[in-house]
Amino acid sequence: MWRFDQGRLGYYSFDQIRKHAKFAVANDLAAAGHADLGAATGIGYPPIKVGYEQPWRNYGRTFRLMRIVTQPGGRNTPAVPTTVAHLLAQDGQVTSDDFFHFWAQSFTDPDPAFSQEWEPTTDPKFPLVFALKFLLIRANSGIDTSSYEEIIAAYSQTGFNGDEDVSAFFKIASKAWTLPGNLTNAERDLVRQARESILVLSPLSYLNFNSKDVTVSLNVDFSSIFGSLNGIRDIGADDRESELVGLADLFASSIADLDLEQSSSLFDETVEAGFTEGTRVEKTHIVLERNSAIRKAFFDRNPTTTCDFCDRDTNNEFPWSDRVLDIHHVLPLCSGTRSDKDGTVLGDLVAVCPTCHRAVHRFYTQWLKAKGKKDFADAEEARAVYDEARNLRNDT
Ligand SMILES: [Zn+2]
Ligand SMILES: [Zn+2]
Repeated sequence: MWRFDQGRLGYYSFDQIRKHAKFAVANDLAAAGHADLGAATGIGYPPIKVGYEQPWRNYGRTFRLMRIVTQPGGRNTPAVPTTVAHLLAQDGQVTSDDFFHFWAQSFTDPDPAFSQEWEPTTDPKFPLVFALKFLLIRANSGIDTSSYEEIIAAYSQTGFNGDEDVSAFFKIASKAWTLPGNLTNAERDLVRQARESILVLSPLSYLNFNSKDVTVSLNVDFSSIFGSLNGIRDIGADDRESELVGLADLFASSIADLDLEQSSSLFDETVEAGFTEGTRVEKTHIVLERNSAIRKAFFDRNPTTTCDFCDRDTNNEFPWSDRVLDIHHVLPLCSGTRSDKDGTVLGDLVAVCPTCHRAVHRFYTQWLKAKGKKDFADAEEARAVYDEARNLRNDT
């Protein structure tokens, strides 16, 4: 079991991390007040009271754990943005899959964001690398869905550090993993923290989360993702701020061999659907929209047959087919779905008919090209462009 920044899950969505990174590049995050930071990110930083004029006091750990800033000069000195913050601040440079793979690989037990526990000589473990490998190997063995409890129990009972190879993981994949019933309050608190840190990974395009468990999407190329997952740490750092700088500098190499384009059939479908402009950022987006578990979760909750874009009821037109709609994801192209404490937030998704879906993506491509951008700045801009396309649609 491992420590995490419990209760702060809303700050770790990809859209929020990007907003914080942009702010940290343009301002001193350590000196920022509630008004400026809140205006930039749209969320609050309680408490607001004497002694807490700068959110940094209570959230410095959160921002360090995002891997976007360090404070190399010590207390009451400026927060310095990392290389990761600079990359995130440029729209469309980093996909949510890139970021959260890096994040999982750089999250250690203990982690340098927690000042009391980390020390340079400790050989850390990588619980989230363990979690991803465990999920992938089980899916490969026919167990698509694993509960948080199974992941956490397997991690603490195997003693694995996460860097073990495929054959080691195959030995533990099919066993039954449960936590003992006699946990102390402190241990139960750690289980909650561990569960929340796993939920941070919910933007990954091949996973789907709910309140109890995680499902791996079947069309994922298991071996290439498994093979690209390795714990990273900056060996040689002698204090935690240098360790954080070093981890951020390892971003590029830590995702270099990550290939999420998945199967060739998916790519063919992508081309067929008209998404041929296909930057890597766009492809990650399409992978997420085709995630069968997310699709099922969306339609279970919203059993609609009406296209959000053209208002056509596809069930009227095609009475023999109960579902021809696609899922369209309105966050920026490089974002995954957001998570809250109960799992994936499906409100960023709309159901559209395939023709409208193709037209929406064409509109995005043209709009971005005209602006000379690779991606939308944030969810609000993506939503506005979707609405703009909807208004321009001519239905006469
Ligand atoms: Zn439509
Ligand atoms: Zn779409």
